[in-house]
Amino acid sequence: RLANFCAGPATMPTEVLQKAQAELLDWRGKGTSVMEISHRSADYIEIATKAEQDLRTLMGISDDYAVLFLQGGASLQFSAIPFNLLNGGTADYLNTGTWSQKAYKEAKRYETLGLGSINLVAQGGGKDVPTPDTWELTDGASYFHYCPNETIHGVQIFDTPKVNAPIVADMSSCILSEPINVSDFGLIYAGAQKNIGPAGLTLVIVRKDLMERASAWCPSILNYKNQADSDSMLNTPSTFAWYLSGLVFEWLLANGGVEGIAKTNRAKAELLYQVIDNSSFYDNAVNPRHRSIMNVPFTLADSELDKVFLEKSKNAGLLNLKGHRVVGGMRASIYNAVTYEQVQALADFMKEFEKTHA
Ligand code: PLP
Repeated sequence: RLANFCAGPATMPTEVLQKAQAELLDWRGKGTSVMEISHRSADYIEIATKAEQDLRTLMGISDDYAVLFLQGGASLQFSAIPFNLLNGGTADYLNTGTWSQKAYKEAKRYETLGLGSINLVAQGGGKDVPTPDTWELTDGASYFHYCPNETIHGVQIFDTPKVNAPIVADMSSCILSEPINVSDFGLIYAGAQKNIGPAGLTLVIVRKDLMERASAWCPSILNYKNQADSDSMLNTPSTFAWYLSGLVFEWLLANGGVEGIAKTNRAKAELLYQVIDNSSFYDNAVNPRHRSIMNVPFTLADSELDKVFLEKSKNAGLLNLKGHRVVGGMRASIYNAVTYEQVQALADFMKEFEKTHA
């Protein structure tokens, strides 16, 4: 298997895929695949419950929170959140890049229906985070929304914002990468396809008291309380993705948990930022205090060389380094399943490329 730096769907731990492969046709001697059994069967309920329990252990999630295994991607949560939490009030949105901007725009649609107000707290330019003293917060806001890791721009907010409203965080590209204090948050959501498992599964961790706020016009499938009451099985869930995510949680628990992987993640990011900072050929324009440890975008001094860089890196077994079209250049996504050795190989390749092309 080659080193895959794709931003998502992203690489999975090889051991997990091997386990899934071994169990694919005949799960535990039952004569069927996991993807062929009913989500209501005792066997499947066992898989689903164990995955939730392991995630609770990994993240230290208390019984005050419901953990939901949903569908529709993080993007559907851009709509589900105001449906459930806005409740005729005002919600604060901090914009720091493409994804928080998208969440804000989607929420803004509720305003046009007269269902509440959406306030832009501050607008970042994708290279930095506006400092908290410039934020225009609403007294008594229904919630405060932000994106701790902007996948496209590689801008990360490491400290949980100090605000009075319940904090809603889009952790699609940083969940399980570092320890967090779940009790600081009202709601955490994440598309699975980066640090959790296959696309098709969306995780929502929501404080139970907030689930009582849903508006009457909230579609039942998007209603957190409904989903919690039916153990995320209001309809057929994404069963195979849920099962595979459970295997990823087991893998993480067996490999030092979130604390363990966080050390490796920091070391991986450090390797790349060192190469970038020690060169006049590569550049990363993000304020060093907010450089992402999951997505490392960088440009080459001469963009004419982008194509050559991508061709040569691919030939060296380093895949999917093309940056997002919004920012151009390159991007190395170094999620949990990307190994230190793979990042080392990329760092070595970058140094060698600079030597021969600068
Ligand atoms: N939020 C962030 C931070 C993302 O990185 C992405 C996808 O890359 C999304 C939201 C959208 O996720 P989905 O495709 O699951 O809707």
